[in-house]
Amino acid sequence: MSRPILYVHSSNELYGSDIILLDLVKRLDRARYAPFVVMPQDLPYDGRLGRALAQEAIPHTSIDMAVLRRRYTNVFGLIAFSRRLLVGTLALRRIMRDQQVALVHSQTGAVWCGGLASRWLGIPHIYYIMEIIQTPRLTRHLMARFINKYGDRVVVISKAVGEHLMKDAPDIESRITVIPPGIDAETFHPRNPGRAVREAWGVSDAEVVFGVVGRIHWWKGQDLFLRAAARIAHQVPHARFVLVGDVVPGEEWRRQALKQEIARMGIGDRVIWAGYREDIPQVMAALDVLVLPSTEPEPFGRVIVEAMSTERPVIAAAHGGPVESVVHGETGFLFPPQDEEALAAAMKQLAQDAALRVRMGKAGRERVLALYTIERHVAAFQALYDEILEERGER
Ligand code: UDP
Repeated sequence: MSRPILYVHSSNELYGSDIILLDLVKRLDRARYAPFVVMPQDLPYDGRLGRALAQEAIPHTSIDMAVLRRRYTNVFGLIAFSRRLLVGTLALRRIMRDQQVALVHSQTGAVWCGGLASRWLGIPHIYYIMEIIQTPRLTRHLMARFINKYGDRVVVISKAVGEHLMKDAPDIESRITVIPPGIDAETFHPRNPGRAVREAWGVSDAEVVFGVVGRIHWWKGQDLFLRAAARIAHQVPHARFVLVGDVVPGEEWRRQALKQEIARMGIGDRVIWAGYREDIPQVMAALDVLVLPSTEPEPFGRVIVEAMSTERPVIAAAHGGPVESVVHGETGFLFPPQDEEALAAAMKQLAQDAALRVRMGKAGRERVLALYTIERHVAAFQALYDEILEERGER
Protein backbone atom coordinates (compact mmCIF):
# COMPACT_ATOMS: atom_id res chain seq x y z
CA MET A 1 0.00 0.00 0.00
CA SER A 2 1.23 3.48 -0.83
CA ARG A 3 1.50 5.63 2.33
CA PRO A 4 1.13 9.42 2.01
CA ILE A 5 4.25 11.25 3.14
CA LEU A 6 4.08 14.99 3.64
CA TYR A 7 7.23 16.99 2.92
CA VAL A 8 7.28 20.45 4.47
CA HIS A 9 10.01 22.54 2.89
CA SER A 10 11.58 25.95 3.54
CA SER A 11 11.84 27.49 0.05
CA ASN A 12 10.86 27.30 -3.59
CA GLU A 13 14.14 27.70 -5.48
CA LEU A 14 16.60 25.14 -6.80
CA TYR A 15 19.67 25.26 -4.62
CA GLY A 16 21.02 22.68 -2.18
CA SER A 17 18.09 21.87 0.12
CA ASP A 18 15.59 22.11 -2.77
CA ILE A 19 17.56 19.82 -5.08
CA ILE A 20 18.11 17.30 -2.28
CA LEU A 21 14.35 17.18 -1.69
CA LEU A 22 13.54 16.93 -5.39
CA ASP A 23 16.10 14.16 -5.92
CA LEU A 24 14.57 12.14 -3.09
CA VAL A 25 10.86 12.52 -3.86
CA LYS A 26 11.20 11.86 -7.55
CA ARG A 27 12.98 8.57 -6.89
CA LEU A 28 10.76 7.27 -4.06
CA ASP A 29 9.18 3.91 -4.68
CA ARG A 30 5.69 5.16 -5.57
CA ALA A 31 4.19 1.75 -4.90
CA ARG A 32 5.11 2.26 -1.24
CA TYR A 33 5.08 6.03 -0.68
CA ALA A 34 2.95 8.88 -2.03
CA PRO A 35 4.83 12.18 -1.61
CA PHE A 36 3.10 15.55 -1.22
CA VAL A 37 5.28 18.67 -0.97
CA VAL A 38 4.35 21.92 0.77
CA MET A 39 6.43 25.06 0.21
CA PRO A 40 6.25 28.52 1.81
CA GLN A 41 5.27 31.85 0.27
CA ASP A 42 7.20 34.15 2.61
CA LEU A 43 9.73 35.39 0.00
CA PRO A 44 9.39 36.24 -3.71
CA TYR A 45 10.77 32.84 -4.76
CA ASP A 46 11.55 32.11 -8.38
CA GLY A 47 9.34 28.99 -8.12
CA ARG A 48 11.88 26.64 -9.70
CA LEU A 49 11.23 23.78 -7.26
CA GLY A 50 7.46 23.96 -7.85
CA ARG A 51 7.98 23.77 -11.61
CA ALA A 52 10.38 20.84 -11.27
CA LEU A 53 7.89 18.98 -9.04
CA ALA A 54 5.14 19.60 -11.59
CA GLN A 55 7.34 18.12 -14.30
CA GLU A 56 7.78 14.99 -12.20
CA ALA A 57 4.02 14.86 -11.54
CA ILE A 58 4.58 15.18 -7.77
CA PRO A 59 1.64 16.80 -5.97
CA HIS A 60 2.63 20.05 -4.25
CA THR A 61 1.32 23.37 -3.01
CA SER A 62 2.55 26.65 -1.52
CA ILE A 63 1.00 28.06 1.65
CA ASP A 64 1.46 30.98 4.02
CA MET A 65 3.63 29.49 6.77
CA ALA A 66 6.50 30.46 9.03
CA VAL A 67 10.11 29.79 8.08
CA LEU A 68 12.70 30.82 10.64
CA ARG A 69 14.88 33.60 9.21
CA ARG A 70 17.26 36.27 10.46
CA ARG A 71 14.82 38.98 9.43
CA TYR A 72 12.46 37.93 12.22
CA THR A 73 14.90 38.77 15.02
CA ASN A 74 13.15 42.02 16.02
CA VAL A 75 9.78 42.82 17.60
CA PHE A 76 7.85 43.26 14.33
CA GLY A 77 9.54 40.19 12.90
CA LEU A 78 8.55 38.16 15.92
CA ILE A 79 4.91 39.17 15.47
CA ALA A 80 4.98 38.27 11.77
CA PHE A 81 6.68 34.94 12.55
CA SER A 82 4.14 34.05 15.25
CA ARG A 83 1.21 34.82 12.92
CA ARG A 84 2.69 32.65 10.18
CA LEU A 85 3.43 29.90 12.67
CA LEU A 86 -0.23 29.78 13.61
CA VAL A 87 -1.76 30.00 10.12
CA GLY A 88 0.83 27.61 8.71
CA THR A 89 0.26 25.02 11.43
CA LEU A 90 -3.51 25.19 10.94
CA ALA A 91 -3.14 24.84 7.17
CA LEU A 92 -0.80 21.87 7.49
CA ARG A 93 -3.09 20.20 9.99
CA ARG A 94 -5.87 20.43 7.42
CA ILE A 95 -3.64 18.99 4.69
CA MET A 96 -2.48 16.15 6.98
CA ARG A 97 -6.08 15.22 7.69
CA ASP A 98 -7.30 15.55 4.10
CA GLN A 99 -4.43 13.50 2.72
CA GLN A 100 -4.42 11.01 5.62
CA VAL A 101 -0.70 11.58 5.99
CA ALA A 102 1.21 8.69 7.60
CA LEU A 103 4.51 10.48 8.16
CA VAL A 104 5.81 14.06 8.02
CA HIS A 105 9.29 14.97 6.79
CA SER A 106 10.38 18.57 7.50
CA GLN A 107 13.19 19.67 5.22
CA THR A 108 15.56 21.98 7.21
CA GLY A 109 15.38 23.18 10.80
CA ALA A 110 13.87 26.48 9.66
CA VAL A 111 10.52 24.70 9.16
CA TRP A 112 8.47 24.68 12.37
CA CYS A 113 4.83 24.31 11.34
CA GLY A 114 5.27 20.67 10.26
CA GLY A 115 6.49 19.64 13.72
CA LEU A 116 3.65 21.44 15.50
CA ALA A 117 0.86 20.12 13.27
CA SER A 118 2.14 16.53 13.31
CA ARG A 119 2.46 16.53 17.10
CA TRP A 120 -1.09 17.87 17.31
CA LEU A 121 -2.38 14.96 15.25
CA GLY A 122 0.02 12.33 16.62
CA ILE A 123 1.69 11.70 13.25
CA PRO A 124 5.39 10.69 13.31
CA HIS A 125 7.70 13.53 12.34
CA ILE A 126 11.20 13.39 10.85
CA TYR A 127 13.48 16.38 10.66
CA TYR A 128 16.14 16.51 7.93
CA ILE A 129 18.59 19.12 9.21
CA MET A 130 21.02 20.74 6.81
CA GLU A 131 22.10 23.94 8.45
CA ILE A 132 24.70 25.10 10.93
CA ILE A 133 23.40 28.31 12.49
CA GLN A 134 26.08 29.93 14.64
CA THR A 135 24.57 33.37 15.25
CA PRO A 136 22.38 34.88 16.57
CA ARG A 137 22.99 32.56 19.51
CA LEU A 138 19.36 32.78 20.57
CA THR A 139 18.18 31.52 17.15
CA ARG A 140 20.76 28.73 17.23
CA HIS A 141 19.63 27.69 20.70
CA LEU A 142 15.89 27.94 19.97
CA MET A 143 16.23 25.99 16.75
CA ALA A 144 18.13 23.14 18.40
CA ARG A 145 15.64 22.97 21.27
CA PHE A 146 12.69 22.98 18.89
CA ILE A 147 14.19 20.23 16.73
CA ASN A 148 14.89 18.21 19.87
CA LYS A 149 11.32 18.59 21.09
CA TYR A 150 9.47 18.03 17.82
CA GLY A 151 11.71 15.69 15.84
CA ASP A 152 10.75 12.08 16.56
CA ARG A 153 13.78 11.25 14.43
CA VAL A 154 16.45 13.72 13.41
CA VAL A 155 18.36 13.08 10.22
CA VAL A 156 21.43 15.24 9.67
CA ILE A 157 23.23 15.89 6.43
CA SER A 158 26.70 15.48 7.98
CA LYS A 159 28.29 14.59 11.30
CA ALA A 160 29.20 18.26 11.63
CA VAL A 161 25.51 19.24 11.67
CA GLY A 162 24.77 16.60 14.34
CA GLU A 163 27.63 17.79 16.54
CA HIS A 164 26.46 21.37 16.17
CA LEU A 165 22.93 20.44 17.29
CA MET A 166 24.27 18.57 20.28
CA LYS A 167 25.91 21.73 21.63
CA ASP A 168 22.45 23.03 22.51
CA ALA A 169 20.55 19.77 22.83
CA PRO A 170 22.93 17.02 24.06
CA ASP A 171 20.14 14.48 24.59
CA ILE A 172 19.25 14.52 20.88
CA GLU A 173 22.11 12.12 20.11
CA SER A 174 20.10 8.89 20.38
CA ARG A 175 17.59 10.11 17.77
CA ILE A 176 20.17 11.25 15.22
CA THR A 177 20.93 9.48 11.93
CA VAL A 178 23.44 10.78 9.36
CA ILE A 179 22.23 10.62 5.75
CA PRO A 180 24.39 12.66 3.37
CA PRO A 181 22.92 13.86 0.08
CA GLY A 182 23.40 11.61 -2.88
CA ILE A 183 23.98 12.53 -6.46
CA ASP A 184 23.40 10.81 -9.74
CA ALA A 185 26.89 9.70 -10.77
CA GLU A 186 25.70 9.23 -14.36
CA THR A 187 24.44 12.83 -14.56
CA PHE A 188 27.64 14.18 -13.02
CA HIS A 189 29.97 12.15 -15.19
CA PRO A 190 33.54 12.89 -16.29
CA ARG A 191 32.46 12.16 -19.86
CA ASN A 192 30.15 15.20 -19.85
CA PRO A 193 31.17 17.74 -22.47
CA GLY A 194 32.28 21.03 -20.93
CA ARG A 195 33.56 22.54 -24.14
CA ALA A 196 30.41 24.43 -25.20
CA VAL A 197 30.23 26.16 -21.82
CA ARG A 198 33.94 27.03 -21.93
CA GLU A 199 33.57 28.43 -25.43
CA ALA A 200 30.61 30.54 -24.37
CA TRP A 201 32.79 31.88 -21.54
CA GLY A 202 35.61 32.59 -24.00
CA VAL A 203 37.98 30.14 -22.27
CA SER A 204 40.56 28.12 -24.22
CA ASP A 205 41.67 24.54 -23.48
CA ALA A 206 45.00 25.84 -22.23
CA GLU A 207 43.42 27.91 -19.48
CA VAL A 208 42.65 26.60 -16.00
CA VAL A 209 39.21 27.52 -14.72
CA PHE A 210 38.48 27.84 -11.00
CA GLY A 211 34.80 28.08 -10.11
CA VAL A 212 32.64 28.86 -7.11
CA VAL A 213 29.17 27.42 -7.61
CA GLY A 214 26.34 28.46 -5.30
CA ARG A 215 24.08 31.20 -4.01
CA ILE A 216 25.77 34.56 -3.73
CA HIS A 217 25.38 35.04 -0.02
CA TRP A 218 27.25 36.68 2.84
CA TRP A 219 28.83 33.46 4.10
CA LYS A 220 29.47 31.66 0.83
CA GLY A 221 32.87 33.34 0.46
CA GLN A 222 32.70 34.64 -3.12
CA ASP A 223 34.60 37.76 -1.96
CA LEU A 224 37.33 35.65 -0.35
CA PHE A 225 37.67 33.68 -3.59
CA LEU A 226 38.03 36.87 -5.62
CA ARG A 227 40.69 38.24 -3.26
CA ALA A 228 42.64 34.96 -3.53
CA ALA A 229 42.23 35.15 -7.33
CA ALA A 230 43.62 38.69 -7.35
CA ARG A 231 46.68 37.48 -5.39
CA ILE A 232 47.61 34.83 -7.96
CA ALA A 233 46.32 36.48 -11.13
CA HIS A 234 49.78 37.68 -12.20
CA GLN A 235 51.63 34.52 -11.18
CA VAL A 236 49.29 32.19 -13.08
CA PRO A 237 48.25 34.15 -16.17
CA HIS A 238 46.45 31.10 -17.59
CA ALA A 239 43.94 30.98 -14.69
CA ARG A 240 40.34 32.18 -14.99
CA PHE A 241 37.81 32.59 -12.20
CA VAL A 242 34.11 31.88 -12.55
CA LEU A 243 31.20 32.76 -10.28
CA VAL A 244 28.18 30.54 -10.88
CA GLY A 245 24.89 31.28 -9.08
CA ASP A 246 22.95 34.36 -8.18
CA VAL A 247 21.85 36.39 -5.17
CA VAL A 248 18.86 35.41 -3.03
CA PRO A 249 15.62 37.31 -3.76
CA GLY A 250 15.70 40.81 -2.28
CA GLU A 251 19.52 40.99 -2.05
CA GLU A 252 20.27 42.27 -5.54
CA TRP A 253 22.66 44.90 -4.10
CA ARG A 254 25.08 42.08 -3.33
CA ARG A 255 25.61 41.43 -7.04
CA GLN A 256 26.53 45.06 -7.61
CA ALA A 257 28.89 45.14 -4.62
CA LEU A 258 30.81 42.11 -5.91
CA LYS A 259 31.07 43.58 -9.40
CA GLN A 260 32.51 46.79 -7.97
CA GLU A 261 35.01 44.76 -5.96
CA ILE A 262 36.11 42.90 -9.11
CA ALA A 263 36.63 46.21 -10.93
CA ARG A 264 38.51 47.69 -7.96
CA MET A 265 40.91 44.73 -7.84
CA GLY A 266 41.53 45.08 -11.58
CA ILE A 267 40.71 41.44 -12.41
CA GLY A 268 37.62 42.13 -14.53
CA ASP A 269 39.18 40.49 -17.60
CA ARG A 270 39.91 37.28 -15.66
CA VAL A 271 36.54 36.84 -13.94
CA ILE A 272 33.50 35.27 -15.58
CA TRP A 273 30.10 36.13 -14.19
CA ALA A 274 27.99 33.09 -15.12
CA GLY A 275 24.75 33.81 -13.20
CA TYR A 276 22.31 31.06 -12.18
CA ARG A 277 22.70 27.96 -14.37
CA GLU A 278 20.37 25.06 -14.89
CA ASP A 279 23.06 22.95 -16.59
CA ILE A 280 25.37 22.33 -13.63
CA PRO A 281 26.56 18.90 -14.92
CA GLN A 282 27.99 20.70 -17.98
CA VAL A 283 29.22 23.61 -15.87
CA MET A 284 31.14 21.20 -13.59
CA ALA A 285 32.68 19.61 -16.68
CA ALA A 286 33.72 23.08 -17.88
CA LEU A 287 35.60 23.77 -14.63
CA ASP A 288 39.08 22.49 -13.84
CA VAL A 289 38.82 23.04 -10.09
CA LEU A 290 35.84 23.66 -7.81
CA VAL A 291 36.35 26.04 -4.89
CA LEU A 292 34.03 26.17 -1.88
CA PRO A 293 35.39 29.06 0.22
CA SER A 294 32.47 29.42 2.69
CA THR A 295 33.36 31.65 5.63
CA GLU A 296 30.84 29.91 7.94
CA PRO A 297 30.82 26.10 8.24
CA GLU A 298 29.11 24.58 5.23
CA PRO A 299 26.58 21.95 6.46
CA PHE A 300 27.45 19.67 3.55
CA GLY A 301 28.17 21.42 0.25
CA ARG A 302 26.49 19.41 -2.49
CA VAL A 303 28.61 21.13 -5.12
CA ILE A 304 31.63 19.29 -3.72
CA VAL A 305 30.27 15.86 -4.56
CA GLU A 306 28.98 17.10 -7.92
CA ALA A 307 32.52 18.20 -8.80
CA MET A 308 34.11 15.03 -7.39
CA SER A 309 31.70 12.88 -9.38
CA THR A 310 32.82 14.77 -12.51
CA GLU A 311 36.46 13.98 -11.56
CA ARG A 312 37.28 17.54 -10.59
CA PRO A 313 39.49 18.37 -7.61
CA VAL A 314 37.98 20.50 -4.86
CA ILE A 315 39.45 23.23 -2.66
CA ALA A 316 37.24 23.84 0.38
CA ALA A 317 37.36 25.72 3.67
CA ALA A 318 38.15 23.24 6.44
CA HIS A 319 35.02 23.43 8.55
CA GLY A 320 31.64 21.72 8.56
CA GLY A 321 30.66 19.02 6.05
CA PRO A 322 33.55 19.45 3.58
CA VAL A 323 35.96 18.08 6.20
CA GLU A 324 34.05 14.79 5.86
CA SER A 325 33.73 14.74 2.06
CA VAL A 326 37.11 16.13 0.92
CA VAL A 327 40.21 14.08 1.70
CA HIS A 328 42.99 16.65 2.02
CA GLY A 329 45.81 15.92 -0.39
CA GLU A 330 43.86 13.11 -2.07
CA THR A 331 40.64 14.46 -3.57
CA GLY A 332 41.56 18.13 -3.17
CA PHE A 333 42.75 20.57 -0.53
CA LEU A 334 41.23 21.88 2.68
CA PHE A 335 42.40 25.33 3.79
CA PRO A 336 41.92 27.13 7.14
CA PRO A 337 38.60 29.04 6.95
CA GLN A 338 38.91 32.68 5.87
CA ASP A 339 42.62 32.22 5.09
CA GLU A 340 42.96 34.01 1.78
CA GLU A 341 46.67 33.28 1.51
CA ALA A 342 46.24 29.53 2.04
CA LEU A 343 43.41 29.45 -0.49
CA ALA A 344 45.56 31.32 -3.02
CA ALA A 345 48.45 28.87 -2.44
CA ALA A 346 46.21 25.83 -3.03
CA MET A 347 44.78 27.41 -6.19
CA LYS A 348 48.27 28.21 -7.47
CA GLN A 349 49.46 24.66 -6.86
CA LEU A 350 46.55 23.14 -8.76
CA ALA A 351 46.82 25.71 -11.56
CA GLN A 352 50.40 24.63 -12.14
CA ASP A 353 49.99 20.86 -11.86
CA ALA A 354 47.72 19.23 -14.44
CA ALA A 355 48.70 15.70 -13.38
CA LEU A 356 47.72 16.43 -9.78
CA ARG A 357 44.33 17.73 -10.95
CA VAL A 358 43.70 14.49 -12.85
CA ARG A 359 44.84 12.30 -9.95
CA MET A 360 42.71 14.12 -7.40
CA GLY A 361 39.73 14.16 -9.73
CA LYS A 362 39.80 10.40 -10.17
CA ALA A 363 40.14 9.81 -6.42
CA GLY A 364 37.14 12.12 -5.92
CA ARG A 365 34.88 10.11 -8.20
CA GLU A 366 35.83 6.87 -6.46
CA ARG A 367 34.86 8.45 -3.16
CA VAL A 368 31.49 9.54 -4.54
CA LEU A 369 30.74 6.06 -5.90
CA ALA A 370 31.55 4.59 -2.49
CA LEU A 371 29.71 7.09 -0.28
CA TYR A 372 27.51 9.64 -2.02
CA THR A 373 25.31 8.04 -4.68
CA ILE A 374 21.64 8.95 -4.95
CA GLU A 375 20.70 5.27 -4.74
CA ARG A 376 22.30 5.07 -1.30
CA HIS A 377 20.54 8.24 -0.19
CA VAL A 378 17.06 7.13 -1.29
CA ALA A 379 17.51 3.64 0.18
CA ALA A 380 18.54 5.15 3.54
CA PHE A 381 15.42 7.34 3.71
CA GLN A 382 13.09 4.56 2.61
CA ALA A 383 14.56 2.26 5.27
CA LEU A 384 14.02 4.95 7.90
CA TYR A 385 10.43 5.58 6.78
CA ASP A 386 9.72 1.82 6.93
CA GLU A 387 11.23 1.55 10.39
CA ILE A 388 9.11 4.42 11.72
CA LEU A 389 5.90 3.27 10.03
CA GLU A 390 6.45 -0.21 11.37
CA GLU A 391 6.98 1.14 14.89
CA ARG A 392 3.61 2.85 14.59
CA GLY A 393 1.98 -0.25 13.14
CA GLU A 394 1.34 1.58 9.88
CA ARG A 395 2.56 -1.05 7.46
N1 UDP B 1 23.20 25.29 -8.27
C1 UDP B 1 22.51 25.39 -9.47
N2 UDP B 1 22.72 26.49 -10.26
C2 UDP B 1 23.55 27.50 -9.90
C3 UDP B 1 24.23 27.40 -8.65
C4 UDP B 1 24.03 26.29 -7.86
O1 UDP B 1 21.77 24.49 -9.87
O2 UDP B 1 23.69 28.44 -10.66
C5 UDP B 1 23.03 24.09 -7.45
C6 UDP B 1 24.30 23.29 -7.27
O3 UDP B 1 24.53 22.47 -8.38
C7 UDP B 1 24.03 22.52 -5.99
C8 UDP B 1 23.14 23.46 -5.21
O4 UDP B 1 22.65 24.44 -6.13
O5 UDP B 1 23.35 21.31 -6.26
C9 UDP B 1 23.88 24.15 -4.08
O6 UDP B 1 24.00 23.25 -3.04
P1 UDP B 1 25.06 23.42 -1.86
O7 UDP B 1 24.81 22.33 -0.87
O8 UDP B 1 26.44 23.49 -2.41
O9 UDP B 1 24.73 24.84 -1.25
P2 UDP B 1 23.38 25.43 -0.59
O10 UDP B 1 22.63 26.12 -1.66
O11 UDP B 1 22.60 24.30 -0.01
O12 UDP B 1 23.87 26.37 0.49
